[in-house]
Amino acid sequence: MRRAIALVAATGVALLAFAGPAAAHPPAANDKPLAGKLILVDPGHQLGNSNPRFAKQMAQTFFNGAITKGCNTTGTATNAGYPESTFTWKVGTRLKALLEKAGARVEMTRSDNSRDSWGPCVWDRAKMANRIGADAMVSIHADGATSGSKGFFAITPSLIKGWTDDVVKKDRRLATSMIAGMKAAGAPPSNYIGGQLMVSRDTTSLNVSNVPTVTIEVGNMRNAEEARRMSSSAGQKQYAEWLYAGIERYFSR
Ligand SMILES: [Zn+2]
Repeated sequence: MRRAIALVAATGVALLAFAGPAAAHPPAANDKPLAGKLILVDPGHQLGNSNPRFAKQMAQTFFNGAITKGCNTTGTATNAGYPESTFTWKVGTRLKALLEKAGARVEMTRSDNSRDSWGPCVWDRAKMANRIGADAMVSIHADGATSGSKGFFAITPSLIKGWTDDVVKKDRRLATSMIAGMKAAGAPPSNYIGGQLMVSRDTTSLNVSNVPTVTIEVGNMRNAEEARRMSSSAGQKQYAEWLYAGIERYFSR
């Protein structure tokens, strides 16, 4: 009996101690900038895009406001053959977990990374962002540049009447926030794209999406140092954390 009373008393003290500081310092509104945000994570490419079985699907085309583009591509790879599609999938799923832990709702443009899957086509990925009304869409890619090139950069659309005019300013703010947040978190900035920002007129996902959208080339798969990082589990975790820092920066403003 005495033991039970002591337990109740101890619990009461513990609850009071917990409630005290929380009541005295209510969290500021931007303490959880990602809470409730709907984010579409778009891991670039798909492993089966190179499967001859899907040649017909890959041959589909679409006018994106600037040029007519194909459904999707196989993406690049490290010199050792580690595919971009596998890398973006691993980083994308890690990023999803980080965002959800911060209270965001997350959808992904593909549900697997398999030789038996293709696409979706880039325009369908953007249409998914429009359909679900995402607060942001982040496309994850890795570059296949010359071996001395390294570091991340963002791709944002140029102004195209009837295509990007509704969202081009928001796209630009998302891109610059990603660049600032990723750099602050320690992501190596591109040494070959000035200001880490490329303005593109013909990237289908950017032109078709009506929500703030950015493509991030997180690094260069043909650079030995970055290829090593991209091929390891610890490195993939690091890339996800850098992308997370960029997204958090965007929603913190
Ligand atoms: Zn790519």
